[in-house]
Amino acid sequence: MDTNLLILLAVVVAVIAVIAIVVIARSRTRTAPKPKPKPKPVDTPQPRLRKQLSRTRTAIGGRLGALLGSETLDDAFWDELEETLIAADVGVGTSTATVEEVRAQRPADGEEARRLLEASLIGQLSGRDRSLHLEGDPAVMLVVGVNGTGKTTSIAKIAGLLGQNGQTAVLGAADTFRAAADEQLRTWAARVGVEVVSGATGSDPAAVAYDAYQTAKTDDADVVIVDTAGRLHSKSNLMDELGKVARVLQREAGTIGETLLVLDGTTGQNGIGQARSFADAVGVTGIVITKLDGTARGGVAIAVEQELDIPVKFIGVGEGVDDLVPFEPREFIEALLEP
Ligand code: GDP
Ligand code: MG
Repeated sequence: MDTNLLILLAVVVAVIAVIAIVVIARSRTRTAPKPKPKPKPVDTPQPRLRKQLSRTRTAIGGRLGALLGSETLDDAFWDELEETLIAADVGVGTSTATVEEVRAQRPADGEEARRLLEASLIGQLSGRDRSLHLEGDPAVMLVVGVNGTGKTTSIAKIAGLLGQNGQTAVLGAADTFRAAADEQLRTWAARVGVEVVSGATGSDPAAVAYDAYQTAKTDDADVVIVDTAGRLHSKSNLMDELGKVARVLQREAGTIGETLLVLDGTTGQNGIGQARSFADAVGVTGIVITKLDGTARGGVAIAVEQELDIPVKFIGVGEGVDDLVPFEPREFIEALLEP
């Protein structure tokens, strides 16, 4: 009897011990740190940018869509893919090299090829410094480019972006060639609430740049942005004039933080030749590509950067005051290529 009682007791103790262990183990797992929630996919393309880039997006997507159904990735498939990129103005060299790179990875089907293409283009555009260099007090930004590319409107948009960032700007209307240029800059400046310094029509642009710099200094503004003329018919005069503006600013400020070249995206690859002349004359530090909302050749952003080895810093995607956005390769490529 006693032994049975002892066995029963032992069994009860064992059961209690097992229950205790299970309870403790459970409470431990309950207090253990929760597994991190899965990060939200960061690569959802921005609907707004997709819409703004819709002409290029449709041009590429229309052809890609037909391709993506392909199960056999034969020579015809790769040729088509290359042609699609070239048609979007990505540039022949870049298009060929990109397609070769994707092909070498032997994707199984069209969809995998698309994903590899996306990764390749993003990779080619990444690793560049796209930040604005605004050293100096005030920092100096000089904006150059051919007439009608969007300099004046882009300047106002940049001033707006700086304002959102808590930075104040003074604009210098050194396009003294066109009578209406100063008025246009003033209208835009009023929209974003910044001051404009200008001179009489036909006056020396370098003198206006000087006045604008001094005003920005006196007013303790963070940045002075100097607008310039872009008439092409007297190219060497234009470059001389720009050189003088740059020298005056350089002398006063010690350094020109940014010299932005504005290119019209709708003129596609033609912009590359222009860009070279400006880069030679004034040393361009960043590129703004405008009017990407109005072209099916938005791939030019990729070509220009590759050809000139100068980073694209902003893209213009509409006529509104907030239609200039910092160039983000991933967002840009995804907006063009994601289904
Ligand atoms: P500037 O001669 O280089 O100063 O060029 P403007 O700033 O005067 O711009 C010329 C025209 O291009 C104007 O009608 C602008 O509204 C237009 N524009 C500039 N940027 C863009 C853009 O990103 N998208 C569109 N659709 N139009 C633009
Ligand atoms: Mg202008």
